[in-house]
Amino acid sequence: MIPQTFAYTAPKSLEEALQLIGDGAKPLAGGMSLIPMMKLRLANPERVVDLARLKDLNYIREASDGIHVGATATHHDVESSAAIRGKCPLLAETAAHIGDVQVRNLGTIGGSVAHADPAADYPAALQALEAKFVLRKAGAERTVAAADFFLDAFTTALEPGEIVKEVIVPVEDSATGGSYKKMLQPASGFAIVGVAVRIRRTGGKISMARVGVTGLSGHAFRATHVEKALEGRAGLPAEIEAASNLVIQNMDANSDIHASAAYRKHLAAIYTARAIAAALGRTA
Ligand SMILES: Cc1cc2nc3c(=O)[nH]c(=O)nc-3n(C[C@H](O)[C@H](O)[C@H](O)COP(=O)(O)OP(=O)(O)OC[C@H]3O[C@@H](n4cnc5c(N)ncnc54)[C@H](O)[C@@H]3O)c2cc1C
Repeated sequence: MIPQTFAYTAPKSLEEALQLIGDGAKPLAGGMSLIPMMKLRLANPERVVDLARLKDLNYIREASDGIHVGATATHHDVESSAAIRGKCPLLAETAAHIGDVQVRNLGTIGGSVAHADPAADYPAALQALEAKFVLRKAGAERTVAAADFFLDAFTTALEPGEIVKEVIVPVEDSATGGSYKKMLQPASGFAIVGVAVRIRRTGGKISMARVGVTGLSGHAFRATHVEKALEGRAGLPAEIEAASNLVIQNMDANSDIHASAAYRKHLAAIYTARAIAAALGRTA
């Protein structure tokens, strides 16, 4: 289907873009989700404001508080960045799981998190990484934790006129291991269930565990029951299995044409156990 008529603007600077966004004008990044939605008439912006051509938002740089990933860094940029591969490998691994080559070449981290598809991959990893989101609108900037950003399916903490400017992820030490495991929907690659785990082992015991889950419910979330059950343990197989089974505690799982709620719950425990075991294997 052809979208309704809309205007297109390619601003020269971030400030110019921020003056335009809002009141019927939506940001356009990779267009991997927005363009299909416009064709299906699920989104009908009067104007799209192209962020993807802005140099101001396309960077990956290390700072004292972590690695700053500009909103228009593509999934391929993230997957292939030496800084991210070396210092926050869980994020690079997750980017490599997204869609196919074309999607990874065009889709952006800012577009993915702003779209907040309940089956998207990044949100699981960004929850486990306790990432921060820098949100910007004309004349104001604020920082929101991943735990407070994803509110529901396709719903985030973004306010009208606000964009994701960058995502900040931690620089990991060698005692910390991470892993992302997902059961994918074979046609699109989206997660039926995806689990990101980040674990630190100190003196033979798990001293920190962070578990982010996507695909299972309306939005990605931290599985804190699993985290608490792991911390202080050695990470023996029986301990991993017992902790992983807690991922579905107090959970209303999604049910759709791809998987029933019962099947998603079954998969969630299995993929949690696999991600924990793999993350533990990557701790020094
Ligand atoms: C065939 C196919 C397979 C896919 N498979 C996967 C998969 O396996 N896993 C996965 O996670 N994703 C998958 N995706 C989605 C893909 O990752 C997209 O990159 C992502 O959903 C949107 O990113 P985008 O840069 O294309 O954003 P766009 O489509 O340009 O924008 C998406 C939405 O975000 C808004 N937006 C864009 N940038 C910003 C910003 N900086 N700040 C605020 N709002 C913004 C737009 O206005 C729009 O509402 C797939 C997509 C396709 C088409």
